[in-house]
Amino acid sequence: MRLANKTALITGGNSGIGLATARLFVKEGAKVTITGRNQATLEAAAKELGPNAFAVVADATDVAATDAAIKRGVEKFGKLDIVFANAGIPGNTPIGSTTLAAFESVIRTNITSVFFTVQSAAPYLNDGASIILNGSVISVLGNPGYAAYAASKAGVRAMARVMASELSPRSIRVNVVSPGAARTPIWNGAAPTPEAFAALDKRISRSIPLGRLGEADEIAKTVLFLASDDASNVQSAEIFVDGGSTGSP
Ligand code: NDP
Repeated sequence: MRLANKTALITGGNSGIGLATARLFVKEGAKVTITGRNQATLEAAAKELGPNAFAVVADATDVAATDAAIKRGVEKFGKLDIVFANAGIPGNTPIGSTTLAAFESVIRTNITSVFFTVQSAAPYLNDGASIILNGSVISVLGNPGYAAYAASKAGVRAMARVMASELSPRSIRVNVVSPGAARTPIWNGAAPTPEAFAALDKRISRSIPLGRLGEADEIAKTVLFLASDDASNVQSAEIFVDGGSTGSP
């Protein structure tokens, strides 16, 4: 039980990497508050996770809603030791067809909301707590179409370093997990047909040294490491879980 007596907040805990992490955290003894926008999937996740999970509908881009969700989680479980700021949206449009609204939506969800989640959680966090932010390989790979998304995730990395220096005096660790392409619902809609999706999967897999997409569980295991005392001296780090994508020339 690597997270016995720990309590955690996971934004976007009703799907993909967030849900896989919630499952692992609960298995390791934590009590977990999960947030998201979709009430049905949140309720389904909470039912599956059992009594040590608490689901609160909260749009991460709404600072007051996030603030209230964190407060409710603390009221329910008594304290807060771990924050996984994970909620995020994709964004893949070429420069010419990216609207201001689409650009701002990616930035607001993937970086602004991450900042305000940490700001809202910080007063409740115990000394020695762990904050993990979800980044992405896209912040360093420069894939076409991902300008806003790449900027948001590079911003997450930069912001984590500042947060780590501000929170180090309280022994609070702030680190980034940066997944490569991983099989989660974020890819729903990335291709118009199942055949086109299979072709996309094949193309992406070929570009990854290990030759395949990652799985949400594999990222969750790294989040668990960063959340646990096993990472007690890991501060301001970014761990890529990407099958070697960022290591290849
Ligand atoms: P999913 O689409 O499965 O999960 C995204 C989660 O974010 C959902 O739970 C969703 O909840 C939540 N979310 C999105 N917008 C908001 C919002 N405004 N307020 C609250 N919750 C929100 O995708 P992943 O699990 O793959 O994505 C999780 C993170 O991992 C993201 O930050 C993503 O950028 C990052 N990532 C993913 C990669 C991949 O290939 N899968 C690669 C690199 C990074 P709801 O549906 O209720 O809104």
